[in-house]
Amino acid sequence: MRAIVYEGANQIAVKDIPAPRLKEGWALVKVSHAGICGTDVNIYSGFHPRATAPLVMGHEFSGTLESDGVPGMAKGTRVTVYPLLSCGHCTPCREGNGHVCNTLGLLGIDCDGGFGEYVQVPVESIIPLEDRVSFKMGALVEPVAVCVHALRGRGFTPGDNALVIGGGAIGLCTALTLRVFGASSVLMFENDPFRAELARSMGFEVVSTVGMDVEDYCKSRTGGDGFDWVMDCAGVQPVANMLLDAVKVRGHILIIASYPKPASMPFIKGMFKEITIEFTRVYRRKDFAVAAQIVAADPNFEKVITHVLPVEDAQKGFDLAMTKGSNAIKVMFSFD
Ligand SMILES: [Zn+2]
Ligand SMILES: [Zn+2]
Repeated sequence: MRAIVYEGANQIAVKDIPAPRLKEGWALVKVSHAGICGTDVNIYSGFHPRATAPLVMGHEFSGTLESDGVPGMAKGTRVTVYPLLSCGHCTPCREGNGHVCNTLGLLGIDCDGGFGEYVQVPVESIIPLEDRVSFKMGALVEPVAVCVHALRGRGFTPGDNALVIGGGAIGLCTALTLRVFGASSVLMFENDPFRAELARSMGFEVVSTVGMDVEDYCKSRTGGDGFDWVMDCAGVQPVANMLLDAVKVRGHILIIASYPKPASMPFIKGMFKEITIEFTRVYRRKDFAVAAQIVAADPNFEKVITHVLPVEDAQKGFDLAMTKGSNAIKVMFSFD
């Protein structure tokens, strides 16, 4: 089968490799679409602590079930796949929090993933796609599940207002998810003109923070209060500096971005406002199932996918995903 194989730092190749030999309790999926995530870029760059070459990356994918005997699902079912691999017996797993397993693994990092024509996946991780969800959108379920998990079970209430900082794939999906979940208003901070324009085309108001007094501005936009929810989808120090100025008294800050470097915050401001700061990591199965529904709830989700390339263009795909100013948000490969 054809696959994009990670062969070492900054080295990938499109190759013919043997199809997976099925393990007990796993099933075969014929991949249709697979998206490049920041984690894949991290692996490609040689920075990921667990990924070892040779590896077929990819944990955001859709395809067709090729195996018989999966309970409740016929061969040929259109599916996406919950890519987390939890141990099942550590304390977080036993307490029902397998998504933050002490030794959490992922398809495409700890074993071969979706950047190949075929991938084997645990039977219980297969999630059927509704007819109205295309394969392309099926491969977007994973990043949307991150945003769904960020909001579900944290006290978000329809009618709350929100500020989303950062208009990359996760920022755009977070803004769209907030709107589906009934936010009264969603404002975005994004300084890149292409990203700002893309968010505007989805119906969001977007402002640049260049030269902005963040505290004054956020007060002026919220009747003097600040935002109920401030979503950090950027993960850089200048954004960490503004979170506590943007949020209202007793409001919520959600760190959705993964910070590559340690960051600091003026904690005293958080104390005075009695702020809740929460971090969020991946998703539960239920979040994944919800995401598989809501990608079809708003046609704007499709705009997040800026490039779909044939598998032969693997290098081009990674170059697009890594180059600042390439105007790429979500880059996908098609195996069809
Ligand atoms: Zn990802
Ligand atoms: Zn575990």
